[in-house]
Amino acid sequence: MLTTLTPQLPARQRMEIITMIKGRIHSLESFGAVDGPGIRYLIFLKGCNMRCQYCHNVDTWNPDTDNLMTADELLDKAERFRSYWGKEGGITVSGGEALLQIDFLIDLFRKAHERGINTNLDTSGQPFTREEPFFSKFNELLKYTDLVMLDIKHIDDEEHKKLTGHTNKNILDCARYLSEQGIPMWIRHVLVPGITDNDEYLKKTRESKEEKENDQC
Ligand code: SF4
Repeated sequence: MLTTLTPQLPARQRMEIITMIKGRIHSLESFGAVDGPGIRYLIFLKGCNMRCQYCHNVDTWNPDTDNLMTADELLDKAERFRSYWGKEGGITVSGGEALLQIDFLIDLFRKAHERGINTNLDTSGQPFTREEPFFSKFNELLKYTDLVMLDIKHIDDEEHKKLTGHTNKNILDCARYLSEQGIPMWIRHVLVPGITDNDEYLKKTRESKEEKENDQC
């Protein structure tokens, strides 16, 4: 039986598990200019529980793939493009939903920091919960995360459910938690005419964003 990776496990056992972890990779892009600060190497992971009506990455939904890579294999590839990154660039992990592979993410971001690489997590926040074992793993991940780009699909819970098939309550809680912890965060919101461009909801999204920024002051 596979043991779950948690910070409570003895260091040796944790290392044994980590060396076995491989990421399920959808695709890689070597030159991302709009996915975080600077120029970034983009890693798209497989799997997503949401079903956004406007999803342009439907082929990432299914978590199954033969494209499995270790953190070191990915970082070796990414570092070939390091000279383009400048002072602010680095790697951005997106999806699909990257947090569904949180054990792999912890390993990847920890090793990236050991190599002095800036890390950015692009997430919808859908897997977030304060329940265990996820919450301890999330806190472990944050130790090695320089920026979180949190995509809020819709500020209204009922509209969010219609749009994605999921509640936004835990996603807004994720934003609140990141804010409380002082984690650098960019809120992203996809503007789709007729679906997410309602003025009232946009104002609410902005107010919510300002509240979180004030929390960080
Ligand atoms: S969260 Fe992203 S990948 Fe998942 S369904 Fe929505 S747009 Fe698609």
